[in-house]
Amino acid sequence: MRCLGHFVVLAALFTLWANVPAPAQDMNRARRTIATLASSAFHGRGYVKQGEHKAAAYLRKRFADLGLQQLAPDYTQSFSLPINTFPGHAALRVDELSLRAGEDFIAEPGSGPAKLEGAVFTLDTLIFTQEAAQQQLLATNLRAHSLVLRQPDVARLSKLPAAVQEHLASAASRITLVQGKLTASLANQQLAQPQVQVLASKWPSAAKTIRLRLDAVFQPAYQTQNLVGYLPGRVHPDSFLVVTAHYDHLGMLGHRAYFPGANDNASGTAMLLELAAHFAQPANRPACSLVFIAFGAEEAGLLGSQYFVEHPLVPLPSIRFLLNLDLLGTGQEGATVVNGRVFEAQYQLLTQLNAAGHYLPSLAARGRAANSDHYHFSERGVPAFFLYTRGTPTFYHDVQDRAATLPLTGFAGAFGLLRDFLRTLDTPGK
Ligand SMILES: [Zn+2]
Repeated sequence: MRCLGHFVVLAALFTLWANVPAPAQDMNRARRTIATLASSAFHGRGYVKQGEHKAAAYLRKRFADLGLQQLAPDYTQSFSLPINTFPGHAALRVDELSLRAGEDFIAEPGSGPAKLEGAVFTLDTLIFTQEAAQQQLLATNLRAHSLVLRQPDVARLSKLPAAVQEHLASAASRITLVQGKLTASLANQQLAQPQVQVLASKWPSAAKTIRLRLDAVFQPAYQTQNLVGYLPGRVHPDSFLVVTAHYDHLGMLGHRAYFPGANDNASGTAMLLELAAHFAQPANRPACSLVFIAFGAEEAGLLGSQYFVEHPLVPLPSIRFLLNLDLLGTGQEGATVVNGRVFEAQYQLLTQLNAAGHYLPSLAARGRAANSDHYHFSERGVPAFFLYTRGTPTFYHDVQDRAATLPLTGFAGAFGLLRDFLRTLDTPGK
């Protein structure tokens, strides 16, 4: 009896276990996703060494393994963009000091190529206030000189007379000294002048000469892609809930330095995959169709999401709600919801679910902002949130945004919250 009793209990437990969906989200799997996407094998998921194509191939396989259906062949919506890249040499020497690409200096996004050696010319800030200083500058031949200025003065350049601006642009290169941290970005065009940013703390105060080698290559029509998979709705297949996250990042600077983009946005991509894994399970299949879009070219100017809204694979008016995930790697201070002040009913639901589930320590609402892929959707009338976590570390668009230092403090909480949110919006009648 006793043994049998045990067996019955065990069998009952097993049946119970077998019917309960797998654990909410798999933190180890999420960490592996982030570490993979942020690894050197993906070259910063940009436009050097096929980085974004490698990331796309990895995500196609993940979509297929989850059993997501295709809204486009091979989950792929292709488009092209103009982009400036730094695929070759990136070396800067100041007098006898070699600066490290990515750590000590970065290229300005639109920098032209450089292979130069020459004297340094430090900008006299009197040119912003005195015409005599401007005249003196105009009388100086800058073509053999590299112009050095401090970052706050860059914005003031555009207020100078056109002739002075043109003269400054004739310098062999422009070097901007930055206090604090270096923050990289991308540009859709290339300037003639080579331009770099250097950490002010690394710049020798009596610098005389520099040697700069920067292979900048402009690609007028680089082909990249969005990846789109979906789970057809059981009850309302023509009504859509959409989860989005951009998988691209900034790529490389020279042969060695790459921008891992662990927080931005391997973390959001991992969350998208965890939500897909949850809703793909038979017990959790949604009533509405659930679309998952991994956008390309977000860092190049929200271009993937812009292309999608211009060439939608589902009718935009049929989207009940869109949830965009970007920067989900911290969370000690909770999360911020862009458009939380715009779509108040949905934001109220989100805060109720957060309180009920004790998911994140706090939520904050913001208004509209063109700072991620939700933007083009909500501007076209699609209700959408962009959720990001707040906390430390604050690495952003730099070579330090690595998987190893990403705490993922709010990841499990955000997963629970977003799962409940989607589940509630999916409930017929909502
Ligand atoms: Zn970014």
